[in-house]
Amino acid sequence: MNFFDLHCDTVTESMERGMGLRENDLHLSLNRASVFEKWCQVFAVFVPDTLNEFEAESYFDNACEFFFKEIAENSDKIALCKAASDLWDFTMSGKCAAILAMENSKAVNSISRLQKLYETGLRIITLTWNGTNSAGGGSKSGGGLTAWGCDLVRAAQSMGVVIDASHLSDAAFWDLTRVSSAPFIASHSNARSVFNNRRSLTDEQIKFIAKNGGLIGLNFYSEFLGSNGGVAELLRHAQHMLELGTEDVLCIGTDFDGAQISSELAGVERVPCVRQYFEQNGVSSSLCDKIFFENAFNFFENVLQL
Ligand SMILES: [Zn+2]
Repeated sequence: MNFFDLHCDTVTESMERGMGLRENDLHLSLNRASVFEKWCQVFAVFVPDTLNEFEAESYFDNACEFFFKEIAENSDKIALCKAASDLWDFTMSGKCAAILAMENSKAVNSISRLQKLYETGLRIITLTWNGTNSAGGGSKSGGGLTAWGCDLVRAAQSMGVVIDASHLSDAAFWDLTRVSSAPFIASHSNARSVFNNRRSLTDEQIKFIAKNGGLIGLNFYSEFLGSNGGVAELLRHAQHMLELGTEDVLCIGTDFDGAQISSELAGVERVPCVRQYFEQNGVSSSLCDKIFFENAFNFFENVLQL
């Protein structure tokens, strides 16, 4: 099968724990992902809320240095996508097509830095984590987007950097809908009306993203799935989102190596079983193709043309 994952935290986790990407005992390794024919993976560099802005920038830069070194050392298995043609070339040659994301915009504090990071390969920015930063309010702190947050959204979208609404407060989400001039994504977010959590999307937010051609990645984190936090709960979130018209925007954003994940869902090698469970429980094979790969691939093929 083909797989496009909109979110993992494997870069910072492997850096912190002194492990490589090729072989490790994390949720995701390059070797264990050999179960996929085509594989696109968004690698988010998670920036903790506890760092100040200077520390955040150097933390992000160090993590990128680690990630780029890993890519160079494993160039038979992975390459960094900057353009739409890379998505095609790398997946066709059997390599992981990697996309670089920043989770928490705290590590970009000027438009000139954003431009520099774009040139090194940054293609997605998650505006906040759970707390407030200079761009706006997260799901735990609340609060809307700031003037800087709005400037950042406009500048990023004009360069072709995708804005990620996962972790935003409700107020900041709706501010984003007003300032955004391009489809935005929620890379790793579930449905609040299936299991109540402020980190998950309301039905209105899901419908907005669906109508505007963004993406929503189903998150494997037990705490957001509810109940047993297993594959049955994941399917419930998927079915609810599909009822809201997300056939062309629904995809997967595992949160591997950034969350507690049940044994039914933990590990990249288990993704084919997840797909199989979906197919055995009413999701057609062609719809699974869209959710597990095509929706996200088509979206990034468009965005990376810019
Ligand atoms: Zn996250």
